[in-house]
This record gives sequence, structure tokens and C-alpha cells, in this order.
Amino acid sequence: MKPFAYLRPASVAEAVRAGAGHPGARFLGGGTNLVDLMKLGVESPGLLVDVSRLPLDRITRTDDGGLRIGATVRNSDLAAHPDVRGAYPALSQALLAGASGQLRNTATTGGNLLQRTRCPYFQDVSKPCNKRVPGSGCPAREGAHRYLAVLGHSQDCVATNPSDMAVALAALDATVQLHGPEGERTVPVTDFHRLPGDNPDQDTVIRPGELITEVVLPPPSDGAVSLYRKARDRASYAFALVSVAAVLSVRDGRVDRVSLAFGGVAHRPWRARVAEDLLRGAPPAEDAFARAVDGELEAARPLRDNAFKVDLARRMAVGALVELTSRAVPA
Ligand SMILES: Cc1cc2nc3c(=O)[nH]c(=O)nc-3n(C[C@H](O)[C@H](O)[C@H](O)COP(=O)(O)OP(=O)(O)OC[C@H]3O[C@@H](n4cnc5c(N)ncnc54)[C@H](O)[C@@H]3O)c2cc1C
Ligand code: SF4
Repeated sequence: MKPFAYLRPASVAEAVRAGAGHPGARFLGGGTNLVDLMKLGVESPGLLVDVSRLPLDRITRTDDGGLRIGATVRNSDLAAHPDVRGAYPALSQALLAGASGQLRNTATTGGNLLQRTRCPYFQDVSKPCNKRVPGSGCPAREGAHRYLAVLGHSQDCVATNPSDMAVALAALDATVQLHGPEGERTVPVTDFHRLPGDNPDQDTVIRPGELITEVVLPPPSDGAVSLYRKARDRASYAFALVSVAAVLSVRDGRVDRVSLAFGGVAHRPWRARVAEDLLRGAPPAEDAFARAVDGELEAARPLRDNAFKVDLARRMAVGALVELTSRAVPA
């Protein structure tokens, strides 16, 4: 490991100043991803700005009945919070489906959103990888890509975003609050992660030196129910092959509010807008769900070894919507 400097700032302003003032700086949350990548030689920051003790560790109600989640709130605390379990079960379920108890006790909300892909070539510095070294190539396209993208990938990168939490946040219309050298801004989670295009080295729209300070959830919609489901190679401690977060409400026998997001299929949580548009106003029935999800998945471009993900995504999404329908309180 290369030597690096370490700073524990006392305030957000000090953290942002330090991050902006040192081109090789990285913010340190729980370190469960960043430190691993440093050990692998993928990351070699000159300065670690440890933000894990900043006073951003609270979960509070917003004036309109939503929830404000500080960036250093640990994944375990967020999953267990009564307001999250009660009003946003998809988020609690997504967090509990991720990693292990020990990791969740350490991992932070900000760090989880910015964790890097688990593409094996990205994590192996002896291999080319456009995300790690722009222009070096993408061996995953012809190599090991069973876990990788079926939607929205490019010639330059077929990686997936590994976060479970981000998929639930995308379906719940959460926003990310950023604090940077040029001030504060708010970005919807659905716009926070990028598709790879021809610059896959950029995972998100975050700018140099910007710190995530909080994530904000809007108030839950009346009568809406939500869930998160994850398919993986073993029952725990494994990343998603495919996951789905869904929110549904039914009014007058028709789908009223619906949001659907997939994980494990793209470079970012995949919000299924095509399916949602087809579903709004439709009867909440399995055949209507299947038609809408098929409409979404027409955009899928599976690789040699991951076509199974398209069928899996379809089954999981339809199953999730059927299950939510049985739980939705008719309005
Ligand atoms: C064995 C293993 C299994 C796992 N399985 C899963 C899984 O199934 N599902 C899943 O979702 N995750 C899984 N994870 C990943 C885990 O959830 C992440 O490592 C964790 O959420 C990252 O959070 P952290 O606080 O430790 O981030 P860190 O490692 O501290 O940081 C990650 C990145 O975020 C940046 N960062 C941190 N905080 C901020 C901030 N406030 N503002 C701006 N930048 C910031 C860092 O600079 C770094 O680039 C697994 C990890 C391991 C090691
Ligand atoms: S899929 Fe992306 S992360 Fe994986 S090798 Fe290709 S460029 Fe690198």
C-alpha cells in the first residue's frame, strides 16, 4: 500500500476544503470499499479525509413528513430505524439484503451510494479496464460477464452498480444532497449514477471535492406499499444477480402510483419508466404487469452469458407487483 496522509475534519466545511485542496484526496466513510480497493492497488489516494465522525449521523423527519438521512448513518442503523421499517420497507429490506451484519454496522449511507463496481477486471490491476484506466479496453465484454449489465451498457463498459440500497432509493424518489467547493446542490438518486457511455471512469455525476451530506426521502404516498427482492448465487453475503424495488398503490381498481427499479442489470439503478407509464391506470393484474415489464425489457441487450438475467428480471418484477397488489389497501 502506498503511504497516504489522514485527516479527520471537524466540520463539513473543513472536509470540503480539504477534499478540494488536494487532487488525490478521497473521503473515507466506513472504509469497507475504499480500503479494500487501496489494498488491491485500484485506489491510491494521497489524502484520506475521514468524514465518518462528522455530525451527519442522524435520521430526522422533514417538515412535509419525509425523512432526512445523514451521510454517515450506518447501514444497520438505517435498516433498523422504525420510520424506515414502517414507511419505507423496501429500503430496510434492501439494506438487510446487502453484505453482512458486520459490514452493515460499518458502512455509511454516503459510502454505499459511491461504492465501486464489483467487475472482476476493475478490481484486478494486472488487467485492462476502461473504468480504471480509460482507453485500456474492456475485457469483460468477451470475458467473465455473467454478473454484468444487460441494459444501458456501452462498447466501453458493461459493469453493473452493486448497491442494493441505491435501487430502493431510486424507486422511492430519494434525492442526494451534495456540498462542494461551489456550494450545495440536490440531485435525484435516479440521476446520480450514470450510464457508462464512452467515459465509464465516471460512475456518478458527483464533482471533484463534493461531499454527500444527506439523502432525503419524500413522504410516503397514501396507501402505497413497497418491497425489495434480490436474487443471488447464495442466500447471503452475495451481490445481486438481479434485484427489484417496487412501490404500488391502487385506486378505484386501477394502478395509481407505481415505481419500479432494477438492480444488478445496469451501470446504475435502472428505473423502469417505460413499464411505469404502461402501468399507470391499468388494472392491477398479472398479465398487465407482464406486458408492462416486457415493454421495459425490450431495451435489454444481454451479453453471451447473462441472457438469463432478462427473464429473471421479468419474473421478479411481475412477482413483486403481484405480491404488492395483494397487500395494497384499495382506495
Ligand atoms: C464482502 C462484501 C460484500 C458486500 N456485499 C454487498 C451487497 O450484497 N450489497 C451491497 O449493496 N453492498 C455490498 N457490499 C458493499 C458495501 O455495502 C459497501 O462497501 C459499503 O456500503 C460502502 O460504504 P462505506 O461507508 O464503507 O464506504 P467507503 O468504503 O468509506 O467509501 C466508498 C466510496 O464512497 C466515498 N465516500 C464515502 N463517504 C462519502 C461522502 N459522504 N461523500 C462523498 N464521498 C464519500 C469514498 O471516497 C469512496 O470512494 C459488500 C462489501 C463487501 C466487502
Ligand atoms: S465492464 Fe467496465 S469495469 Fe469491467 S472491465 Fe469493462 S470497463 Fe472495466
